[in-house]
Amino acid sequence: MIGTQVIVRGQVQGVGFRPTVWRLAQEMGLAGDVKNTSEGVVIRLWGEAVETFPARLHASLPALARIEELRVEPLEAEAPTGFDIVASEGGEMRGSVSPDAATCADCLAEIRSPFERRYRYPFTNCTNCGPRFSIVTAAPYDRANTTMAPFDLCQPCNAEYRNPADRRFHAQPVACGRCGPQIWIEKLGPGAVQHEAFSMLDDIDATGGMILNGHIVAIRGLGGVHLACDATNPAAVAELRRRKGREGKAFALMARDLDVVRGFSEVSDVEADTLSSPAAPIVLLRALPNSLPDSIAPGLDRLGVMLPYTPFYHMILRRIGRPVVMTSGNPSGQPQCITNADTRERLAGIADFACLHDRDIANRIDDSVVRVDLGRPRLLRRARGYAPAGLLLPSGFSRDAQVLAMGSEVKNTFCLVKEGQAILSQHMGDLEDAATHADTARNLDLYTRLFDHAPDVIAVDSHPQYLSTQAGYARAGGRPVVAVQHHHAHIAACLAENGRALDARPVLGIAMDGAGLGDDGTIWGGEFLVCDYRGYRRAGSLKPVALPGGAAAVREPWRNAYAHLMAQMGWAEFSMNFEALPIHQRLSGIPRATLDAMIAKGQNTPLSSSCGRLFDAAAAIAGVAWGPQSYEGEAAMRFEATIDPAAMEEPDDLAYPFSIPLMGGRGMPYIEPLAVWRAMLGDLILETPVGVIAARFHRGLAMAIVKMAERITKDTEIDTIALSGGCFQNATLFALVHQGLEASGKHVLSHAKVPANDGGLALGQALIALAVTQTEETPCA
Ligand SMILES: [Zn+2]
Ligand SMILES: [Zn+2]
Repeated sequence: MIGTQVIVRGQVQGVGFRPTVWRLAQEMGLAGDVKNTSEGVVIRLWGEAVETFPARLHASLPALARIEELRVEPLEAEAPTGFDIVASEGGEMRGSVSPDAATCADCLAEIRSPFERRYRYPFTNCTNCGPRFSIVTAAPYDRANTTMAPFDLCQPCNAEYRNPADRRFHAQPVACGRCGPQIWIEKLGPGAVQHEAFSMLDDIDATGGMILNGHIVAIRGLGGVHLACDATNPAAVAELRRRKGREGKAFALMARDLDVVRGFSEVSDVEADTLSSPAAPIVLLRALPNSLPDSIAPGLDRLGVMLPYTPFYHMILRRIGRPVVMTSGNPSGQPQCITNADTRERLAGIADFACLHDRDIANRIDDSVVRVDLGRPRLLRRARGYAPAGLLLPSGFSRDAQVLAMGSEVKNTFCLVKEGQAILSQHMGDLEDAATHADTARNLDLYTRLFDHAPDVIAVDSHPQYLSTQAGYARAGGRPVVAVQHHHAHIAACLAENGRALDARPVLGIAMDGAGLGDDGTIWGGEFLVCDYRGYRRAGSLKPVALPGGAAAVREPWRNAYAHLMAQMGWAEFSMNFEALPIHQRLSGIPRATLDAMIAKGQNTPLSSSCGRLFDAAAAIAGVAWGPQSYEGEAAMRFEATIDPAAMEEPDDLAYPFSIPLMGGRGMPYIEPLAVWRAMLGDLILETPVGVIAARFHRGLAMAIVKMAERITKDTEIDTIALSGGCFQNATLFALVHQGLEASGKHVLSHAKVPANDGGLALGQALIALAVTQTEETPCA
């Protein structure tokens, strides 16, 4: 009898895929076997109904499995009797560590039922849910190589683990109250926990009671420690801000269920699905007015909200019908704590109590952040629930070469390419923090071991001073290093996640970004690049304007406001016309002579075409931001949040008039804000509300970007435009540009699975390095 071989790739290892195949084969009366290999899951089948197998398989996939590629081949071999799950061959681990997944409905029902063995057991999980990546310490992914190793399975758990018909068959973290990890409360600082103070079932319930009583509690969770307090208690929120040293950056919230969420924010169907998905990310939702203290997310109109994703969180929140602040447990700027000792030491001055447990977190992994724009969930920070799921490489890329890409210095992620897939790490953070830097190096070593990775080439940002770039050269050890221009990498990341083939026609890439090193030594950040994976041509940009003070200008929006206004009109004219404005009074108080001298000499004042700095200038002139930003992008985010929706419907000619002249009258076209500042200052004189000014600015800039794109692509064969860069995480700019380009007949590619900001950079770097080295290897015809 002729057999059939089915090879499946995607997220199919460690998610209960093989038992599903086993059950299906039994049902369909097929003989054969299934095993994990480095190529994916290989299924050999003999029997009558074999043709319908792929369809049946698709229909009965386990919750966390995702098929990305399914290949069917005939097979010349003797049919065995029966169907077996075959022990794995070497290399199983490659690309097989799944992301952590939120508690499934079956497990939730168990922990809520007094008749179940796992009633109120906070580490309940099964094949369809629970920890994966956060507990793995080595390859391959089985219990001995996880932080569950110290917990010996009791007999009933062991029976479940061994039974292919059970929901917990080969679920590596299986545990119960008898054999698994435990939770307890400690008081941080002097004194003991007064349990009597709380009417409580157990320590978990008491944690909820403490939160309701206004305390700040450190909770050791799945991928790190959180700090929790009652979000409806302004004093508790303010105290948390003060103790954590976190000025303005928004706090994330967790709420028991969607009903509670709907009490303080709008929730669309797509947003509800995203919140409830196995990845359970933080979703940025539009806040209902006056529902929560402004100090949760100062100056912003969105709230970051997530649902409980472990049994532990479900149980803590069970009796809390209001949102709880659930923010990373770390002093500001440092990585999240993961150990009990670290929590006791570093969070003692921040939290009153700590809810701890005895299962180690092997990999720190932050909560992911998603926003739904134009009907699609888009990742703004990719971490828990998503990493380290692999992305299949588009067609044309070599499956043989291994690449390591080091990413950016801020919002760092790194990327491994191997066997036709790209594994993008979880969000690491800003490498300027020494602890984050060390943590990133540790994680890179872990990924290297888990995926048995040995790079043939290393990709870095072309900025020699980035710590990620330097770490890349340090790791190279004689292997070739490819330096990739920052914005080319952004666009390549967008092409890659959209499956754009290696040999597809060039696109127009629009990178609206903070900053990256340009080929001419200036700071780029608002770029129009005609490009493919192999190369690019800069076809347009925003106007390069002085950045007085370099890095200081990134922190302090007023510096950009001053540089832009002086480039536009000079002080005398500005004073003559706009002396009455607050922005004039404020700029009068700065050391203008020093700044003027710096700008004149170009001293520590590079030119920059950054879109981020353009937004900073606009936010400062409009009076939304001035001094040091307490987090990256604060000025632009607050400026966007002021937009008056009604003003978005104004006639087009009220949008601010960006123009598109040529450099030096005949060079590259650029977007010129000259007339914009005059219009904006005029509106300020007329006391136009800031919400209207913000709308006019966003609309004007979006229209100019669309016009520039039309101009560059006119009389060319370019029909596809790729949008990337951190400024496209501005929902308004993104939507306006996307819709404008589609209206002009272009096919638009954008980000969803990978962040548009520097969190996605490593993916683009990796594919460019692969494309470039692949091309070099092609013999000349
Ligand atoms: Zn489950
Ligand atoms: Zn047990």
